[in-house]
Amino acid sequence: MRTPWGRSHPHPDDWCQVPGCSRKATREYHVLYECGGEDGGGENLVRVCATHLLILRRGWVRVRGRAPGQLRWELGVRKGRPPLQVFEPPARRGPT
Ligand SMILES: [Zn+2]
Repeated sequence: MRTPWGRSHPHPDDWCQVPGCSRKATREYHVLYECGGEDGGGENLVRVCATHLLILRRGWVRVRGRAPGQLRWELGVRKGRPPLQVFEPPARRGPT
């Protein structure tokens, strides 16, 4: 499986999903839906390493969208400033 940032792993779920991170995923983080609960009850979890779980909880990294393939990452988030890096999900064709 290819990721938007060009890495590929035989078992992508075993690795931290944060762009640029190559640590093993040992934690899970709930993705916030941009449009609010469109999946109707399904859990939207992203697998991350312990370090990135802390960073996500502190708000320095934000993730939106639908796990695992349609995630938008914002790295280096600080109050009152745009994120340092943004990783958009791959382009999707469809009514949305
Ligand atoms: Zn990580």
